[in-house]
Amino acid sequence: MERSIGIGLLGAGTVGGTLVSRLIGDADAIAAKTGLTFDVRKVGVRDLAKERPFPVTDGLLTDRLREVIDDPGVELVVELMGGLDPAGDLVLAALEAGKPVVSANKELIAARGPELIAAAERSGVPFLFEAAVGGGIPIIRPLSETLAGETIDRVIGIVNGTTNFILTEMSENATSYEAALEAATELGYAESDPTADVSGADAAAKAAILASLAFGTWVGVEDVFCEGIEAVSAADVAFAAEFGYAVKLLAVCERTDAGVSTRVHPAMVPLEHPLASIRGATNAIFIEGPAIESLLFAGPGAGGGPTATAVLGDMIDAARETLAGAQVAPRIRFSPGELVDFTEVFTEWYMRLVVDDKPGVLAKIAGGFGDAGVSIKSVWQEGVNTEATLIVVTHLATERSQREALRSLHAIDEVIEVGSVIRVLGDGP
Ligand code: NAP
Repeated sequence: MERSIGIGLLGAGTVGGTLVSRLIGDADAIAAKTGLTFDVRKVGVRDLAKERPFPVTDGLLTDRLREVIDDPGVELVVELMGGLDPAGDLVLAALEAGKPVVSANKELIAARGPELIAAAERSGVPFLFEAAVGGGIPIIRPLSETLAGETIDRVIGIVNGTTNFILTEMSENATSYEAALEAATELGYAESDPTADVSGADAAAKAAILASLAFGTWVGVEDVFCEGIEAVSAADVAFAAEFGYAVKLLAVCERTDAGVSTRVHPAMVPLEHPLASIRGATNAIFIEGPAIESLLFAGPGAGGGPTATAVLGDMIDAARETLAGAQVAPRIRFSPGELVDFTEVFTEWYMRLVVDDKPGVLAKIAGGFGDAGVSIKSVWQEGVNTEATLIVVTHLATERSQREALRSLHAIDEVIEVGSVIRVLGDGP
């Protein structure tokens, strides 16, 4: 027997529009597999006159968003608006009204996750957000449920398709950062304002969610160290390839005896690491733990189709739980834990310097590193006329020490330019 579930949708853009079309076009297949049909009762949007990719029946659309939640026929709320405001208060109101919520909004979950999860727990309803990280890649459920029995050590993700596309272009076609960004915009990978992608902010929200679920300690987006790809040059990408690395924007979530650290920054990834081969707009998440050793999840991290599939999975899950009639316990509990300040995290650095090609310069540079307690792993040098390019890769040292070494380099007269600094992905804790 089929059971119909009344849906209230907040937002009908790229993902929401695709979702409604799928609910109509794939209704029979979904019903055959799950015994469920989804009846979209209300859709909240900003612009009532905008064309939609689905039939708009009388009274379906509203710009009075509270109507979506308050409609007595709405049993499940799907939030696909994005942003913090008004999405946050609407999701909270739906949960407080005892309605299950499915959301794809990483920004909201990273900012108000504990409050919303607590509201869902009080009401005994599911609050699911599989699509918030990795688009179509199943990663939230594996982390919070399937791997709940594993003591995860580290999660490393390529969680922003735009920046991975840009870095792949720079690497494979020797394109400049600016030209690669232009290509990403032309192909629709980058927004007209790509700041959230290239600055790492989008990846930082996803990193906060991944770390929180992996370690069971809440990590807010404000706890994530974040550096974007704006300063990565074509020269760095070319040097990386020469030395056996690919440059990737990584979200790194790590647990050591000292606590949990979470960061987003460009990194030199050894070519033999599975993440080095993730090309274009593809996303991937690599999980390490003592029993599972390592797992790789990879696939389309965005786009209406893949993201709508993740949202649909959550809707089916939430509908099943609701129909079972039980009070739903949260899928993960968070306990207090130590968050390690990034300056105390151990990292390995790659640095590209331009120096006066004079005797004794190398000794001065080595002295700067030594005084900061950083030892050098390798140095490569190439001289052109009176200048030399120097590539220095350091051994593991705390960020504090690495930064101190960097400051001392700036104070050396013969150092003309510190071209760039990129962290190297090491073996982990
Ligand atoms: P989108 O295309 O910009 O659509 C947003 C929708 O929400 C639009 O229908 C818009 O109404 C409505 N909306 C936004 N603010 C509103 C407001 N203040 N009042 C009323 N309606 C409002 O966004 P999207 O790409 O579908 O993304 C939706 C969510 O999914 C976001 O949280 C995003 O991070 C997440 N997500 C997206 C992708 C992806 O590939 N796009 C992947 C993973 C996760 P109008 O249509 O009237 O303008």
